[in-house]
Amino acid sequence: MSINVKGKILKIPEKCLKCGVSYQENSVDTLSEDGNFFVFHLTCKACNTSVLFHVVFGQEGVLSVATLTDAGKEDLDKLKQGRMITTDELIEAYQEMKN
Ligand SMILES: [Zn+2]
Repeated sequence: MSINVKGKILKIPEKCLKCGVSYQENSVDTLSEDGNFFVFHLTCKACNTSVLFHVVFGQEGVLSVATLTDAGKEDLDKLKQGRMITTDELIEAYQEMKN
């Protein structure tokens, strides 16, 4: 599935990492956006598994990392207050991937 973020088309996982059921577009929430750093929250309607999807728009492309989370939709406000992963950490991972 693709979503449009500030004019950039972003690919996000089509299917639940756990049960393989396709995500629906309305199951995607934007958790945070900070410059070129975005965090999305996806919840599978079938098994209720939530995934945090981190995206960095870099000069050389887009880095995306999906991680399963226990935090459901009702926890989004909590998540918004505490960053699960920092931009620096993600950029570091991005640099490592290039090497
Ligand atoms: Zn699922």
